[in-house]
Amino acid sequence: KKEQLQLLATVDAVTKDGTYFNLAANMNSVKEMEIALKNGAQGVGLFRTEFLYMDRHNFPTEEEQFEVYKLVAENAGQASVVIRTLDIGGDKQLDYFALPEEENPFLGYRAIRISLDRTEPFQTQLTAILRASAYGSVKIMYPMISSVDEVKQANAVLRRAMADLDRRGIAYDPNIKVGIMIEVPAAVTISDLLAEEADFFSIGTNDLVQYVLAVDRMNEQIAHMYHPFHPAILRMLRTTVEAAHRAGIPVSVCGELAGDERAIPLWLELGVKDLSMSPQSLLRVKHRILNTNAAEAKGEAAACFKLRTSSAVEERLSAFAERSS
Ligand code: PEP
Ligand code: MG
Repeated sequence: KKEQLQLLATVDAVTKDGTYFNLAANMNSVKEMEIALKNGAQGVGLFRTEFLYMDRHNFPTEEEQFEVYKLVAENAGQASVVIRTLDIGGDKQLDYFALPEEENPFLGYRAIRISLDRTEPFQTQLTAILRASAYGSVKIMYPMISSVDEVKQANAVLRRAMADLDRRGIAYDPNIKVGIMIEVPAAVTISDLLAEEADFFSIGTNDLVQYVLAVDRMNEQIAHMYHPFHPAILRMLRTTVEAAHRAGIPVSVCGELAGDERAIPLWLELGVKDLSMSPQSLLRVKHRILNTNAAEAKGEAAACFKLRTSSAVEERLSAFAERSS
């Protein structure tokens, strides 16, 4: 089975009736690049940069970061690499950067909020990413955006990083695409406004589910309430994708739901073609796409959007996945 799946690495991810998907990899380390390429990833849809900042005593320098981003960009060839700026806080801590003790870390000092508060390390990271953009198809992505102002403020720091590189005479892609994660309910609600500020959206279902359902993604005791197929989530997905389509910007999904083959009908019905998932999920999802009839799957998904409970949606999508395997 595993050997058979491996044969799919170089095969296009296309449904029986000709709908193509682009399957990219989420990466938590440089080591994973090898698995991603082996499993036929079409680029990196989410490069989590946290690991560069962890297990050390100080912020990584511009040079250190640049070397890593450049390596990944070069390895990806023509395919794009979406580098997400630091998403620390919440469950992730840094030894050398004492984050305050908080009652609700996931609602607290986290991700873009830290970057906009501590703009110096943020600018250093953006500078390193910009430099790597001269060596491949690199894109920037901001995590945990909840307002238009945050995007504007982050872009102001980005412009400073560009001006600095101009002064130093160092090359970068001046037209680099800058996207945002949609993972906070407010971002979904104002996705039409955010679509005017961003070059692309990537939906982070891991945090989105946590915030929409008010269910801590780390809390075992309420893990049974963590329902990616909750009707509220389906509606949020639809709102976001429609806003992106109306604005004419690309929208991808990079949360765990992208790696769940039962969700394929939802992407087909919504018109999402770009999925990014852990490298280990790529071949399994591709296998299911190859065995899916898009027209039929859309019908199933359309019915799911009318269902009233998480379990009804989950059962229906599971049954469909079973039938098309
Ligand atoms: C997400 O929230 O869905 C996501 C992809 O980001 P992370 O899991 O790193 O928070
Ligand atoms: Mg997230």
